[in-house]
Amino acid sequence: MANLINGKEVSAKVKNDVKEEAAALAAKGIEIGLAVVIVGDNPASRVYVNSKKKACAEVGFKSYEYALPEETTQQELLDLVDVLNKDEKVNGILVQLPLPKQIDENAIINAISPDKDVDAFHPYNVGKIMIGEYAFLPCTPAGVMELIDSTGTDIKGKNCVVIGRSNIVGKPMSMLLLHRSGTVTICHSKTTNLREICAQADILVVAIGRAKFVTADMVKEGAVVIDVGMNRLENGKLCGDVDFDEVEKKAGFITPVPGGVGPMTIAMLMKNTLTSAKKKNGLI
Ligand code: NAP
Repeated sequence: MANLINGKEVSAKVKNDVKEEAAALAAKGIEIGLAVVIVGDNPASRVYVNSKKKACAEVGFKSYEYALPEETTQQELLDLVDVLNKDEKVNGILVQLPLPKQIDENAIINAISPDKDVDAFHPYNVGKIMIGEYAFLPCTPAGVMELIDSTGTDIKGKNCVVIGRSNIVGKPMSMLLLHRSGTVTICHSKTTNLREICAQADILVVAIGRAKFVTADMVKEGAVVIDVGMNRLENGKLCGDVDFDEVEKKAGFITPVPGGVGPMTIAMLMKNTLTSAKKKNGLI
């Protein structure tokens, strides 16, 4: 039986550290603010936005919500981003994705000031991640690194396999593992021998978006298995990309869904917002 990696516990520690630093800044008169923008009424987006606002309250940040109607134009959203870029109270800007189809997501990401880009999606920050000089951490991959570290696993020289090559998860995930000297293989939908590659992995990070895709025969005995996937089943329950019940019998460590990677993403967002405030005030 694998050891369970408890994302709730690890994320609580990250948030607690952020809270302590935020309190120290508040004592110096520095208030930290995160602007959260939601366009339309996608129920999943609403859940994420509420969780982010709740996390802000937990760590002592102010959150400013901007809920715009579904029919918002790209220009209207760009105008709001421009206002937030200039707003002294706002240290971080988070535009919840996906956006309605009339809005080009890249145009919005590119318009957010790199100094307030706490999701680390702006090409400037993506470039920084590539060369290992992080301004902001890519939230989900950075959260995964915290979870791997919580197991005491030394990444150096390990076979690391990432399934998924999205800009948000797979690619930055691979970079973070590489920067820690893992030997990294990136797999995707065109990979021909996926099962064999995965079965070699000491550390397997799965970010596909297909429920229970990774089965026990794809996992090496004793591996660290991190499940980024979040899939909603017909019965309404959340389910990861890993067949948890079977893989748990073989892995050394495994994350549950929910309660694994999800809480870490939000904790790292709080950490980035703190970083932004510290940079603005010349503290780093
Ligand atoms: P995405 O942009 O849809 O990317 C999915 C990746 O999986 C693609 O690179 C795709 O390959 C690959 N893939 C699809 N089918 C495959 C197959 N049969 N074999 C191998 N690879 C396959 O998704 P994403 O944004 O990275 O998100 C992935 C999952 O993580 C989703 O369930 C999402 O909800 C979840 N997620 C969770 C968090 C969190 O905080 N827990 C954060 C972000 C995302 P191609 O590139 O070849 O198409």
